[in-house]
Amino acid sequence: AAADVKRVGCVGMCHQTPLLETVQSDGTSRLYCHVQAEQVEQIVLQNFQPSGLGARMRTSWSKWVAGLYGRENGADALVEAVSPQEGPVCEFLGPQKRIATESCGDIDPLDLDEYRRHDGFVALKQCLNDLSRGATGETTGEITGEAIIDEIEKSGLRGRGGAGFPSAIKWRTVRGVTAETKYVICNGDEGDPGAFMDRMILESFPYRVIEGMAIAAIAAGAHQGYFYIRAEYPLAVQRIRHAIAECEAAGLLGDSILGTDYSLHFSVKEGAGAFICGEETALIHSIEGGRGTPRLRPPFPAESGLWEKPTLINNVETLSLVPWILRHGGDAFAKFGTETSKGTKVFALAGKIQRGGLIEVPMGVTIRQIVDQIGGGVPNGRRFKAVQIGGPSGGCVPASLADTPVDYEALRDVGAIMGSGGMVVLDDSDCMVDIARYFLRFTQDQSCGKCTYCRVGTKRMLEILERICKGQAKKKDLVLLEELCHSVSSGSLCGLGKTAPNPVLSTLQYFRDEYEAHINGHC
Ligand code: SF4
Repeated sequence: AAADVKRVGCVGMCHQTPLLETVQSDGTSRLYCHVQAEQVEQIVLQNFQPSGLGARMRTSWSKWVAGLYGRENGADALVEAVSPQEGPVCEFLGPQKRIATESCGDIDPLDLDEYRRHDGFVALKQCLNDLSRGATGETTGEITGEAIIDEIEKSGLRGRGGAGFPSAIKWRTVRGVTAETKYVICNGDEGDPGAFMDRMILESFPYRVIEGMAIAAIAAGAHQGYFYIRAEYPLAVQRIRHAIAECEAAGLLGDSILGTDYSLHFSVKEGAGAFICGEETALIHSIEGGRGTPRLRPPFPAESGLWEKPTLINNVETLSLVPWILRHGGDAFAKFGTETSKGTKVFALAGKIQRGGLIEVPMGVTIRQIVDQIGGGVPNGRRFKAVQIGGPSGGCVPASLADTPVDYEALRDVGAIMGSGGMVVLDDSDCMVDIARYFLRFTQDQSCGKCTYCRVGTKRMLEILERICKGQAKKKDLVLLEELCHSVSSGSLCGLGKTAPNPVLSTLQYFRDEYEAHINGHC
């Protein structure tokens, strides 16, 4: 064919889809936004001259990418775009830095050869080469595992699943435990309302996540791994399964990976949709075939996890960063970000925003930069009021604090959390009590019921919020609500219960007047 047509992974520009990009052999490209099926013929004719069509297409065009678009350094090409929204597209992509989502818009998610042409599995190969060159010349993993973890430590990588625990400490702990059997688990049980980062990465970069997990396994000394992916993500499940099979056929997974004597086998376990199964110990129970309920820690999964074996659990985004870190070095990754929060973070930007979608930004950019510059501000002439960060475990940051940088500690200091990366923008038409009630209703519904503070406490809190919203609450209800927040937070067993009061506490801190207005019958 004179031109290739291919579907690429998600590029995050949900506000511009459906997208189609034409790319010439010299790299010049045009991006078409909001494309309708009936416009495709016209786009072809615009780009391929009717006279001498065949020859021109064969010589001038190397590929034609159809699907969702976006890539690093894509701004120049986008200047050529015929879309009337070319300026905003550039603003959207400009401040972003693609590491977890590297090569998005360029590669077909399931094309292994193309992933390898984009440096795919180079990092794994490096690890295995080093492994083969171990002090004894045997593939014991003794030397490489340590070197991998040193690089991860240098990078300052922290878990992207929510808590921000330093990855190197976790990896080293599993590695340090002597056991014949160890496991690695990729946590793809993303469940926050409005969050779809892991879904995008799994669907668009299945080989990258597999590569990251393979490197983690080698570092930890594990030979078996599980992808735990919620069943509501059927495309992600399907693509990871397909990618695992391709990797096995190519000798990248199996009894002898890349010709070494290191065996590595991955499989997929579908989660049934319980939010609590994103919690590590509940997830482990679920894989074991039990009910997904958390348990007390210690022992931590790193010491006694799946079937009581040392288990390394990382979330999807964390693992997807690993190949880049190994290829470029930990120091290169640490150049992005702040003192304590290194690298980049993927966010799902949603709510009252002009340009919603999936973004990957260097840590340290401010909330205002994300909302105004990347997101284009709130639409319809409304006023930016707040942003809810971190999903149901997070908090609402008011517009007055929008210069807060995206950094684990800075967000915690203003009452929010990084969480897994949900970011919901709110405008002046949103009632903050209603927002708090929405998130609490979610956590209450998803409580596993194991401990009383979470099971009953969140129910009582929700009842108070319902009364406030209906104008049936009294002033003392606010006092009770606050007391319950602190009790539930301190008395709950796992992160779900401990953080469930956050949306209530942060809205009480910054928007107390709205609670009082409801109680006093002023709204
Ligand atoms: Fe279950 Fe809630 Fe207790 Fe966690 S805090 S174990 S979700 S009842």
